[in-house]
Order: sequence, then structure tokens, then C-alpha cells
Amino acid sequence: METAYDWGKHVACHSRAAESVKRAVRAGIDCIYHCDFADDEALGMLEAGKDRVIVGPAFGLVHNAVFEGDLVGLTKEVGDGMGLPRKFEHMIRTYHEMRRRGMRVVVGGDYGLMLTPMGQNARDIGHFVKFFGYSPAEALKCATAVGGDLMGHKGELGVITEEALADLLLVDGNPLQGQSVLVGPDRCSMIMKAGAMHRDPRSRITVPQRLAAE
Ligand SMILES: [Zn+2]
Repeated sequence: METAYDWGKHVACHSRAAESVKRAVRAGIDCIYHCDFADDEALGMLEAGKDRVIVGPAFGLVHNAVFEGDLVGLTKEVGDGMGLPRKFEHMIRTYHEMRRRGMRVVVGGDYGLMLTPMGQNARDIGHFVKFFGYSPAEALKCATAVGGDLMGHKGELGVITEEALADLLLVDGNPLQGQSVLVGPDRCSMIMKAGAMHRDPRSRITVPQRLAAE
């Protein structure tokens, strides 16, 4: 941690055990993924440091392993042997607490694996509503404003306001009514990056495709 801070870097870790969460908080970590087995003391430490520490369940991996493991040959026996059902239950309990205690919680994490291919990341937004008790609007904030905060761009990324970067998505539906409209590249009618159109709804062609065609 000292070396990272000497170089002006932020540090994230993946901790599941209560003791590993406490050690990370004591060391002055910026972001902790999982925290499945955080006990009362660990949750209290996180709450006391909530202006400094951001957490994320990285729930996709456990969710997909429990519900969709057979798609990649992960049998129930193997999953049970890895303690997946236990992790799943603890994670749900822990993140209801994180929400109740007003922690800043990010979506995503641990994507890009066989069980959690890139492009599925936005499923986490619906998981926050279904499993952790967030309202759809709160879950969207976790995916936008809290994410921008974690990247060190609070007030500039993940918010729609003057002076913020205009990174905007227009999706084909109302994400407050159902979060599946946010999942997959085909659902984005418009993609604007820093104020410049990447996918223009009028042309329905993305910029790289258009450049290649030209
Ligand atoms: Zn992890």
C-alpha cells in the first residue's frame, strides 16, 4: 500500500474472509471486492471508512456459477465442493447490510472469465435489484456515479450535469422498469463518448464500422 501511494496509485483487492477485509481496511485500501464473509466488526470498519473505501460484490461470478455452471461444465458436485452455495448466501446477506449502511458499492468485477464473458457485465445491475434490495434507480447509480467515483472522476463520470463528460447511452426501453434492456451491445441505440457520437441512432452504424466502410 505504501509503495502504491508513493507512486500515486489506487489499490483494489479481492477479499472474502472477514479477517482479510479487516486487514485491507487497516492497510488503507481504496476498493475491496467480494467481502462475502465480512462479520459485524468488518462491516463496522467498512461503515466507519465509507468515505474512503468502495466495495463491490463482483456477484456475476458466484451468480453464474450457481445458476449457469452447467453451461461451462461446472457440475453441482464441484460447485458444492467449492462452497459456492455458501458464498452466494453470505454475499446476499452482506450486501443487504452494505446497502443499509450506505456503503458505496460498484457493479461488475471478475468479468472476462469463461463463466462471466465480457458484455454480460450489465446483468449485475438487475442482480442488485433482485438479490440485494436496491431500487432500480439506486442500482443504476452504483453502475454509473459510484463507478466514476471509483475511477477517481467523481462528478465528471457517471453523472449528467454541466461540466461532466458527456458519456451517454440511449437504450431501447426503460431501465427503471426492467434492467435487461441494459444488457448487450444491441440494446444501445445511441452511444456518446465525451460528447462525440460513437453510435448514431440516425445512422445505426458505429464509427469504426463506418470508417472501415469508407
Ligand atoms: Zn475476485
